[in-house]
Amino acid sequence: MSNQSIEETCIVCEQSKDEGIHIYTKFLCIDCEKELVRTDTDDPKYRFYLQQLKKIMSREIYS
Ligand SMILES: [Zn+2]
Repeated sequence: MSNQSIEETCIVCEQSKDEGIHIYTKFLCIDCEKELVRTDTDDPKYRFYLQQLKKIMSREIYS
């Protein structure tokens, strides 16, 4: 790990964060990742997250 702080835009909350994970070429911030993990699958929020993820995945596939 380097000490460099490179902010990237999270695909879920659309805020610039310097901590998170990469899915394909996109970025998911650590806060949203944690949120996603503890969100119940029946929660509408969970669907929103999934939708955002699907969006980027299909973009990767079809672009
Ligand atoms: Zn986020």
